[in-house]
Amino acid sequence: MLKCRDIAHQGSDHADGRMTWRQSLSYGFHLLMCGHCRTFVRHLRTTMAFTRSLPDKDTLSAEQVNTIVSHATAQHQKTLGTL
Ligand SMILES: [Zn+2]
Repeated sequence: MLKCRDIAHQGSDHADGRMTWRQSLSYGFHLLMCGHCRTFVRHLRTTMAFTRSLPDKDTLSAEQVNTIVSHATAQHQKTLGTL
């Protein structure tokens, strides 16, 4: 069985679909058994989706960056509040 550190190391591979079915099965089994890793994976997916949704960072003003960071922080705190 995978350990929590394995889940962290393989998180982006899993999110990007770069696992064999056997690796994915082991990964999913660990997530069934471990709430901490489910939370980690949820945060990882949120962060990856947020990062991919950003426009070219060089075209953002400081105010826009602050708005985005504030929104991400609020979402993160909201997620932590549901634990
Ligand atoms: Zn775990």
